[in-house]
Amino acid sequence: MNATILLFHRVNTVRDKLWDPMAPELFEKIIRFVSKNYEVLPLQEICLNKKRHTKKALAITFDDGYRDYLDFALPVLKNYNLPSSMFVVAECVDNNLPTWTYIMDYLFFNTKKLALPPFDYGEACAAFAIYKWNNKEEQISYSKKFKQFLKLVDNERRNAIMQHFMESFDDVAAPCNLMMTWDDLRTLKNEPVEIGSHTLTHPPLATIDNQVELEKEIRISGEIIQQQLGYFPTTISYPVGSYNKKVKEVAKQAGYKIGLAVDQKLYNSQKQDLFEVPRIELYNDSFIRNKIKIYGIESALKSLIKK
Ligand SMILES: [Zn+2]
Repeated sequence: MNATILLFHRVNTVRDKLWDPMAPELFEKIIRFVSKNYEVLPLQEICLNKKRHTKKALAITFDDGYRDYLDFALPVLKNYNLPSSMFVVAECVDNNLPTWTYIMDYLFFNTKKLALPPFDYGEACAAFAIYKWNNKEEQISYSKKFKQFLKLVDNERRNAIMQHFMESFDDVAAPCNLMMTWDDLRTLKNEPVEIGSHTLTHPPLATIDNQVELEKEIRISGEIIQQQLGYFPTTISYPVGSYNKKVKEVAKQAGYKIGLAVDQKLYNSQKQDLFEVPRIELYNDSFIRNKIKIYGIESALKSLIKK
């Protein structure tokens, strides 16, 4: 039996040119639609209990741990009496800073500097060893391309490059207070909200070869949640949906029961592996486009075209 697992990130009235949060009106429309047409259940019930559901089963999940979940998403969910899951990046909660992808966009968008000091980007990133741009447009287009590329680069290299950007664009203050704190997360204790791990630093896990690094991202992030919230999380959500066999194995060994991917398709609870549960990511798009995605039509069409 197919279940639908939705993935949201931010819901906010503030428009953000870098990465637009979903408008609260659209979020409410989607939630109203799914509450009418689906049986919205806790993720763990869909994945671990596998009981037969009367209506189509659907779970609502959020990645990254942005604070606007508390301000705009949770009140709507409470209104409809619906459960949800939130996956937090342990270091982002600790530092009250967003993920590296957000920080990279933020720095390039807000800096007045059109040049960087020389830096060794390494062989893998040699094509991006650019130190000067003629205008803001060129600079932003560079950062967008480089950000996509950095998702595939190893953790150590990416951290060094991010450090270099943060030190060089010192005219931009860090985007603080966008994330939930541990205290915020503790206030959710009595709500039907599952808190899970979204790793320690939000790297694409499949790019990490080093076992120690992988353990750190997967197991240590769960242990930090355990220290802060009192339990080891049941679920881990892989950043940018990146996983492989090794990632799944480390997650299982660490004690998780569910591993969440993105993959933009419906989840078949009878056939699919619990460590590669697909989700359908929704954006601040039209309601119709989101509805087509929720039905799984878009992904079905795409896989037909591929065949
Ligand atoms: Zn994420």
